[in-house]
Amino acid sequence: MIYKADYVITMAGPPIKDGAVKIRGNRISEVRSISQMTIDNDEEVKVFKDTIIMPGLINAHCHLELGYARGLFPPGEAFSMWLARVEKSRKEQLDEDYENAIRLGIMESIHSGTTTLFDVGKTGLNIKIFPDETVRSFPVREFSGGETNLNYQQFDEQIAYISEGSSSFLFPDKCQPSVSIRSPYTCSETFFRHVLTRQNNLRVPFSFHLSEGQEEEGLYKTNSGQLHDFCERNFGTPPDFQGKNPVNYLLERKLIPQKTLLVHCNVLDVKSASRLAEKNVSIAHCPRSSDFFEHPEFPFELCYNNNINVCLGTESMACNEDLSLFEEMHMFRSKYPHVDCSEVLKLATVNGARALGMEDSLGKLLPGYLADFIGITIKHDPAFDMFDEIVCEEHEVAMAMIDGEEVLI
Ligand SMILES: [Zn+2]
Repeated sequence: MIYKADYVITMAGPPIKDGAVKIRGNRISEVRSISQMTIDNDEEVKVFKDTIIMPGLINAHCHLELGYARGLFPPGEAFSMWLARVEKSRKEQLDEDYENAIRLGIMESIHSGTTTLFDVGKTGLNIKIFPDETVRSFPVREFSGGETNLNYQQFDEQIAYISEGSSSFLFPDKCQPSVSIRSPYTCSETFFRHVLTRQNNLRVPFSFHLSEGQEEEGLYKTNSGQLHDFCERNFGTPPDFQGKNPVNYLLERKLIPQKTLLVHCNVLDVKSASRLAEKNVSIAHCPRSSDFFEHPEFPFELCYNNNINVCLGTESMACNEDLSLFEEMHMFRSKYPHVDCSEVLKLATVNGARALGMEDSLGKLLPGYLADFIGITIKHDPAFDMFDEIVCEEHEVAMAMIDGEEVLI
C-alpha cells in the first residue's frame, strides 16, 4: 500500500514534494517522491489532497484516567490545593468512569494526531485496556505511599501481572506496560528503591515527576510547607531531603538511572542540568499544564545547551483543556518564539521517540521504521515556512496510521 500527499515530512531531511510512503506489514519500506517510487501492478495508491504526511506524534506524559476531571478545577491555585482536589474527586469515581476516560482519551489523542501514548495511571486500568487498543502505548501504573504491606502487595501483584502477561503474549509488541512512582516526595526511599529495582527488568524507561514548581522546591529545602503536610496526610511522611537540591539528593542515592524520563523539571539549575545530561535523561515538558499552575518557566535553553533530550506531554485533563500535542507545540512556540518550528516539531516526534528508547523505529519516516504516521490538512503556501504552518496554524488530522493499520481515514 502507498500513501501519497502534497508533501511528506520525514524529520530526517527536507520535505518531499508529491511525496509518498510505501508500507509492508507494520513497517515503512520506501519514502520518496511518487515519480521515483516503484509501484507494483496491483499496488493500491491512496492519494490525500491538500495534505501533509508526517510522523505520528508522541505524547511522552499523560494521565488519561483523569479525563473525567476536564474543566473541574480552577487554574492558578496552589499546587497542594489542586492535588487535594484531585484526590478528593478520585473517591467519587467508579472503575467504569476511569475506563471510559481512558478509552475516550485514546480516541481523542488519535484524532489530534497522536499515535503513541506514555500514559500514567494510579488505577492500573490502563494496563488492562491498552493491549486491545489501536494506539501504540506505554501504560504505566504509578504508585505513591510506601511502608504498608498493602502497597508492597499491590506493587508485587502488578509486576507479576506484567511479567506473566509478557510471557503469555497478553501484550502485543505495540503495548509495553511498566510501573513507577509519582515523585520522590510521595513515597518512602525504601519503596522508591523497591520499585526502581524491579522496574529495571522492563524495557521501558523509568519515569517520575520531578521539580515541578516552587512548592515542591520549598518541600525539599525546608522539609515543611503545605505540600509536605498534604503528602503526610495522604501518602505518609516524605523523606527528609536535608535541604538538598532534589537532583543532587537523588543522584547521590543512585535513584536516577541512565535514560530516565523525568517529567516537568521546571526548576533546574546549571549544575543539576549538567549532571542530568551525564545520565542521558529525557525531560517531558508539559507547556499548558505548567501554564495552568503558573509554574516557573521551563528552562528550555539550559536543557538544549546541555543536550538534554526534551519531549512533550499533555499531563492530565485535571490541568489541561485537551490532549492535543499540536496545541502543546503552539503554546511552546508562543513562550519561545526564537525556537525554529522545525525544532518544535522534533519535541513531539524525534525527541519523544528517543525518550522512549524507540529512536530507531519511531519519530521519523524512513525505510525500516514502524508505519506510524498522520496526514494533516494543510494547503502549503510556498511563500511561508511549512513547519511554521504546521506548528502555528489550525488544521485537521485527516488520516492516522498506527503499526501499519489505518485507524483514522
Ligand atoms: Zn503527570
